Amino acid sequence: MATLLIRNARNIITMDQGRNTYPGGSLYADGHEIKAIGLDIPYDTADTVIDATGKIVYPGLINTHHHLYQTFTRNIPWAQDVELFDWLLTLYDIWRHMRPEDVYLSAMVGLGELLKTGCTTASDHFYCFPNGISGELIDEEIRAAAELGIRFFPTRGSMNLGRSQGGLPPDEVTQSMEVILKDTQRVIETYHDASKFGMVRVGVAPCSPFSVSEDLLRESAVLARSYKVRMHTHLAETKDEENFCLATKGLRPLDYMERTGWLGNDVWYAHGIHFNDGEIHRMGACGCGVAHCPSSNMKLASGIFPLADMLKAGVHVGLGVDGSASNDASNLLGEVRQAYLLHKLSAGKQSPSAAESLWLGTVGSSRVLGWEDAIGSLEVGKAADLFMIDTRKLEYAGALFDDTALPVVTGISQNVDMTIVGGKVVVKDGQLFHVNEQRLAVSAQAAALRMLETAAKHTGANYYKQRGRG
Ligand code: ZN
Repeated sequence: MATLLIRNARNIITMDQGRNTYPGGSLYADGHEIKAIGLDIPYDTADTVIDATGKIVYPGLINTHHHLYQTFTRNIPWAQDVELFDWLLTLYDIWRHMRPEDVYLSAMVGLGELLKTGCTTASDHFYCFPNGISGELIDEEIRAAAELGIRFFPTRGSMNLGRSQGGLPPDEVTQSMEVILKDTQRVIETYHDASKFGMVRVGVAPCSPFSVSEDLLRESAVLARSYKVRMHTHLAETKDEENFCLATKGLRPLDYMERTGWLGNDVWYAHGIHFNDGEIHRMGACGCGVAHCPSSNMKLASGIFPLADMLKAGVHVGLGVDGSASNDASNLLGEVRQAYLLHKLSAGKQSPSAAESLWLGTVGSSRVLGWEDAIGSLEVGKAADLFMIDTRKLEYAGALFDDTALPVVTGISQNVDMTIVGGKVVVKDGQLFHVNEQRLAVSAQAAALRMLETAAKHTGANYYKQRGRG
């Protein structure tokens, strides 16, 4: 296996249990695995040697919720300034025209931005499978992840409750339960690698209570558990969703999840805003996880995640950028900062410090994905998944007094200097190492434009015009 030596770092922030830091420290990895970290390590050379003078090393960030394909529907005036259900209704009409190459290119863009902002493991929730589009769409994003070198946790999403059945999405983006379960099985069998340092782990992810049937929830849980893979869905994101569950099932969202087998330590929900105290305690007791997505929750006016109560109850909490279209970025370091600022505003002294916010995006997220044995902190026996920032920059000048907090409270618009996944350099000097970024950006924008123009022809909507605001 190829070896890696990082030496003379200004500091190494480990986020291990003792929150150890190593000013002037070094790190040595053999293949994916860290073999030594600290001040006097017994290695002085390797296949790749990186002089980290002036640089701070952090554990790679872990994204627990995303919809990469939505990278192509960002910053659309017609879909701005609306709440979740209206936002979805607009975008379903555009996503109907997604082709396999759009899935590949949008994943390259979203995953590329994640890598450039310090993310080394990304989960994705892919649930939109337009009728009549050939190709195995989720395979396209797995291909993009492999090309970029990011550790990937795709979840095979699904929708089978179309408008004609009382659901929210148009029937044209739903599939039958039989097709969904068969393809989910195929994706697991083809790609899931449960080994400690595997580059792809697969999850099962029906989209939300208002877009899937009760049968599909039950059958998906049975399928996931038969393969021992994790389960993911949106829950308690908005009051509209709560009202939908009460009106159609006579149950609050968490009760509905429990009835269908969707409560347990192998389950994580996206958002989790509208739970009451008793529900939060039930989630903590069963070891559930939640992907907290502050930017999306602010943009779609969904509400404020009850972070302090969740952590107190023992719920696993990690961070997610959510789909790019509700963010509108895939900047996970930015999301660490958003969490820090949002809870400062809402909870004052109860809010996490910058270091605790960084913990949410690293160790916290690793627990949400059930992968804490391998990722989330820099320790011997864990993965050499990390990012570095170069402190010799204007954005950090006058701020070098707390290395752990530094990228959370300053310099946030900057890309990281270097990102390494499994001991391999994937971002160097702030740029993707394996990809011509300019060429990718031009192809991606052209593909996104084609999708939008096709949708406009079908719906007659002027997506460039802001709805109701002239
Ligand atoms: Zn989402």
